[in-house]
Amino acid sequence: MHCPFCSADDTKVIDSRLVAEGGQVRRRRECLGCKERFTTYELAELVMPRVIKQNGIREPFDEVKLRSGFARALEKRPVPVEEIEARIDQIKHELRATGEREIPSRELGELVMSALKRLDQVAYVRFASVYRSFQDLSEFRDAIERLESEPAETDNP
Ligand SMILES: [Zn+2]
Repeated sequence: MHCPFCSADDTKVIDSRLVAEGGQVRRRRECLGCKERFTTYELAELVMPRVIKQNGIREPFDEVKLRSGFARALEKRPVPVEEIEARIDQIKHELRATGEREIPSRELGELVMSALKRLDQVAYVRFASVYRSFQDLSEFRDAIERLESEPAETDNP
């Protein structure tokens, strides 16, 4: 890589070590031109699948959008941020683990729904009512009744 000081092409690595619990490599480099030293970090690029929307348009996975979806559903609910972040991490992990290059937005929606179901049932119903766009009150009631009849899936009884 180019020296950030003089833009020379030749730099040499003078030290290399694992950081961030082995998730990154930190390299100390020295420019062969101006002798300045600088540090680079290397980490694996984890590719997220693109999301196929209902209308067929593909768009990049958007973590900000995912997080704001959670925030909307969980507004004024007693759920700690760490738990929400843990669910978001888990969804990202599941998406990467599919190994798919593209996934339908419906699948992403289902992952969010099952995460919300475990976090907070009010948030789950809120999200489901928008996401599944219930046509009328009876559909909404059915969803709630199903929720009540299912065995609790929550991690925090
Ligand atoms: Zn230089």
